[in-house]
Amino acid sequence: MERPHIVKIVVIGAGMGGMTAAARLARSGHSVTVYEASDTYGGKLRTEWIGKFAFDTGPSLLTLPAVYKDFFIRTGKPLGLLCEITPVNPSFDYRFTDGTSVKFANSSRHHTLNAIRESYGDEVSGYWENMMKRATRMWDVSREPFIESELRSPLSLLKRRSLVRDILTIAPWKSLRTFANEQLPDQHLRFILDRYATYSGSDPRRAPAVLATIAYVEEAFGAWHIKGGLGTLAQLVQQRCVDVGVNFHFNSRVKQIIIKKGVAEGVVLADGSEITADRIVANADAELIYNQLILGENRKLRKVRKNLKAADTSIAGFTLLLGLRKNESPKLSHHTILFPEDYDAEFNSIFNDKKPVEKPTIYICSPDDDAMVKSPDLESWSVLVNAPFHGVNGFDWSDEKFARDYAQKIIDQIEARGISVRDRLETLSIRTPADLELSANAPGGSIYGTSSNGAKAAFMRAKNRSPIKNLYCVGGSAHPGGGLPLVGMSGEIVANAIGSARNEQPK
Ligand SMILES: Cc1cc2nc3c(=O)[nH]c(=O)nc-3n(C[C@H](O)[C@H](O)[C@H](O)COP(=O)(O)OP(=O)(O)OC[C@H]3O[C@@H](n4cnc5c(N)ncnc54)[C@H](O)[C@@H]3O)c2cc1C
Repeated sequence: MERPHIVKIVVIGAGMGGMTAAARLARSGHSVTVYEASDTYGGKLRTEWIGKFAFDTGPSLLTLPAVYKDFFIRTGKPLGLLCEITPVNPSFDYRFTDGTSVKFANSSRHHTLNAIRESYGDEVSGYWENMMKRATRMWDVSREPFIESELRSPLSLLKRRSLVRDILTIAPWKSLRTFANEQLPDQHLRFILDRYATYSGSDPRRAPAVLATIAYVEEAFGAWHIKGGLGTLAQLVQQRCVDVGVNFHFNSRVKQIIIKKGVAEGVVLADGSEITADRIVANADAELIYNQLILGENRKLRKVRKNLKAADTSIAGFTLLLGLRKNESPKLSHHTILFPEDYDAEFNSIFNDKKPVEKPTIYICSPDDDAMVKSPDLESWSVLVNAPFHGVNGFDWSDEKFARDYAQKIIDQIEARGISVRDRLETLSIRTPADLELSANAPGGSIYGTSSNGAKAAFMRAKNRSPIKNLYCVGGSAHPGGGLPLVGMSGEIVANAIGSARNEQPK
C-alpha cells in the first residue's frame, strides 16, 4: 500500500473559511497550523458578552445550515449533537413607512404567500410566487458551476451543454433592480428583493439579477439561530479543528508570504520568524493578501490586482448593541426590518457619497434566547444599519462623538416606528466599521471584502487557487463570496483543491 504523503499547510487567519478548510485538511491527514493576528478565532463571527447581555456583533442569521452540518459530519460528530440549532419563525418581519408590514414564514412559501396576500392582496402575492419560481430555476442553474465548485474563468463555463438556456435563466445582463421591476409591480416586494443585494454588500441597481437566488435559499433552507448566539458556531468549529489536530497560534500576524520562483514557500510573522510550508491557505481579505502580504511587482498577479482595484468595496456596517429590560410592549420577531421611505438614498449615500445614511434601513435582531441574557426580564438586541467603509476613500468612522450621535439618531428612528428603546435601555455599545477593521482585520471594516456590483463581479473575485503556485484563498473575499454558508463552501473547495494526504504525490 502507498504511504500517505503529508504536506505542511499554513493557514493565515482563523475566520470561518480558514478554520473549515484547516479542519478538513487536517482530517484528511495533513499537518495544519493556523496563524491568527488577533487574540481569538471566528473573525467577523463573534458573540460578545457585555454585562448581563450577549450580542452577536457580526452574523446573526444562519442560512443554508447544511454547509456546516456537512462540515461537522465529515470531520467528526454531527452539529446537532454539539449545539441547539433552531429555525427562526417568522424568518423576517418587514415593516414599511406606510404603516404596512408582512412577516415571511420560515421555510414555507405557502405561509409566506398567505402573509403577503393578507397584507397586500392576491395579485401581489402572485407576483412573489412567480418571482420565486424564476429564482428557483436560477439556483438550479447556478449552484453547481458558480457556487459549489471552483470558478476558474467564463471560458470554463462555455463548455456546458445547457449554456444558452442557463444564460437566459440567469440573465447576466440584468441587475437585481431591473429584475425586481419586471417581476414585482409592488414597491414593498421590490424593497424586500432589493435587500438581498446587501447580503453580498452590494447595490441592487448594479448587482446581478442572480442574487434573487438568496431569497430562494433563505426560503428553501430556512433561517436559523444557534442557542447562545451564532458565535457558538465559531467556538465549535475551532474545537473541531483542535480535535482533528490543527495547531493554533494567536496574536501571530503574518506580515509576508514568501514566494520563490513563483511558488509560495512560507510566511514571515510580525516578530520576524519564518515558517516554511508546502501549501498556504490565506483567509485574510484578498486585498491584504495581494497588496500587503505579497510584496513588489509580480507578473502573475497583475490581473488579480487590477480586479481588486476595479471592484467596489462592499458595504460596511454600523452596529448598536442594546441591552434592554423587557416591558409590556409585544416582543419583536427575531429579525425585524424597518425599511425607509427612500431605499435608493441609502445606496447613493453608501456607494456614491460615501456618507452615513441619514435614514437607513434598520435591521433589529432580537433573539428569544435565554442563553443570551443573565436574567429572564432582559433582552439583547443587535441593531445593524448599512454604512460606507472606513478610510480615506470612504468615510472616517474614527470620530467617536459622531458615532455616538449617529447611534442616537438611529434610536430616534426606531422609536418613531413605535418601538420603545430609551425607557428600558440598560446598556448601549457601538461598533463602527473602524472597529471591525481593527478587530477582524477587515479592510475598511467592509463586511464582504469586494461587492457583487457589476455583471462580472463573480469572475473578478479572488479565485480559490491563486495564480501563485501553492497559495490558496479562502473566505468572504474569495470565491464564492461572503456570508457564513459561502465562506464554509470556500473552505470545502480549497480543501478539495489541495486534496487529501492519501492522494498527494510525493515530491
Ligand atoms: C456586522 C456583520 C453582520 C453579518 N451578518 C451576517 C449574517 O447575518 N449572516 C451571514 O451568513 N454572514 C454575515 N456576515 C458575514 C460573515 O460574518 C462573513 O462573511 C464571514 O464570517 C467571513 O469569514 P471569513 O472566512 O472571510 O473570515 P473573516 O471573518 O474575515 O476572518 C479573517 C481572519 O483572518 C485574520 N487575519 C487577517 N489578516 C491576517 C494576517 N495578516 N495574519 C494573521 N491573521 C490574519 C483576521 O484577524 C480574522 O480573524 C456579517 C458580517 C458582519 C461584519
